[in-house]
Amino acid sequence: MPNMKDLYAQVDAALDDILALEQALVRIPSVNTGFMPTGNETAVAEYARDWLAEDGIESEILGRDPDRGNLIARMEGRSGKAGLMFMSHTDVVPVEDESKWRFPPFSATIAEGRVFGRGASDCKGLLTAQMMAMRLLKRNGIELNDSLILASGADEEHGGRYGFGWLAENHPEKIAAPFAVNEGGGAPIQAAGALTYVLGVGEKGRLQIEIDVKGVSSHASVPWQGTNAMYRLSRALSNIERFEPELDTSTGLFDHLSTFAIEHRPSPDNIEEIIAEVEPANPRFASLLKALSRMTLTPTMIRGGIKSNSVPESIRLTCDVRTLPHQDEQYVREQVEQVLEGIPGIEFEIDYMAQPNSSPFDTALSQSIRSVTAQALERDDIQWVPAISNGFTDSRFTRPLGIVTYGFSGSHPDDDPMITFTHGTNESIGIKSLVSGTKIMLGLACDMLAAK
Ligand SMILES: [Zn+2]
Repeated sequence: MPNMKDLYAQVDAALDDILALEQALVRIPSVNTGFMPTGNETAVAEYARDWLAEDGIESEILGRDPDRGNLIARMEGRSGKAGLMFMSHTDVVPVEDESKWRFPPFSATIAEGRVFGRGASDCKGLLTAQMMAMRLLKRNGIELNDSLILASGADEEHGGRYGFGWLAENHPEKIAAPFAVNEGGGAPIQAAGALTYVLGVGEKGRLQIEIDVKGVSSHASVPWQGTNAMYRLSRALSNIERFEPELDTSTGLFDHLSTFAIEHRPSPDNIEEIIAEVEPANPRFASLLKALSRMTLTPTMIRGGIKSNSVPESIRLTCDVRTLPHQDEQYVREQVEQVLEGIPGIEFEIDYMAQPNSSPFDTALSQSIRSVTAQALERDDIQWVPAISNGFTDSRFTRPLGIVTYGFSGSHPDDDPMITFTHGTNESIGIKSLVSGTKIMLGLACDMLAAK
């Protein structure tokens, strides 16, 4: 086993290299609008490939589209099979209003101990940490029992059809590993006076429901000759507003609430009370508990009517639905049928945008994440809780392949997640998090893979 103290000191000493790499990656504007041609992630992949090649680390770029390449680098271990995969993505979301940014969004300006720029945190900071960890493994000649894969995908921000979705379908052997660390978790929170890290073990599903409301058109001057679809729609909307989703406390987080000084064992009967108690002091955590204890059904768009003097005969209402990992399509269908029951002229269709997914909490990788984080941060007071996230990441493509995938980026406890502004104006990452992330990724590779 390599001397970890010495390796962590090397990370501290490599600060300038870490910052230079992060800045170089942010300065490549790999903006993904969702409409082709877009992304241009190949430019990031090529930069990363050449940077890794300086130390003789080999990689390849694979893609469905030549401009939207996915980077896959590999450090071979003795067994020839992979033991761990570093995951991230190379695309970034668009900038809404550049004039509101304190610094140009692709300048990667360093100020106040942070690197500012679109993608600084999501997800080029994690990619920086993982690439830097690979470089240090290589420079120290650390021998691996099993191989380490670094896979950075395109198109994460718009469904992954050019990125991990495509890789999982077309090249599953390139990303085959028993364990992976990705974005989507690892935010430090202060709870009950202790440092707590939330490990991302799963993601809620996202569905879109299209509800078609039919009526009969007529001239608006004689409305009784028609059937106005608006009134049917208003019944549907008020039923949705009154919808009381079934309460559910079966996801792993609820087994760990004592960590947050919540003494009552949560159940569907008392979870609303618990949330109300938590709310005043910790609204962010209350919101998380709310999201993880139920399916949500939220109307988001309406299209209908063709003319100001015609009774509308057709309206489409779009709803966003988020499901817990065990709530399947049949469950959603039954819930929506109940909500719309008794309203004439209504039909609906369900479209999956992302399947709910999860990995078990108690595994060799979660053990390793705990011990390495304690060691890298020199803290022995860290508590861990598993959480399902509201949003989704590329982990939804790797979990179904049997890869235990955790969201954990190694953020530093001093780096307040509330000022990161992922996807927002003035996105940034704390320099301390780039350093702690690098140490933790390096530690994980040594702990999981290095010859003992
Ligand atoms: Zn991301």
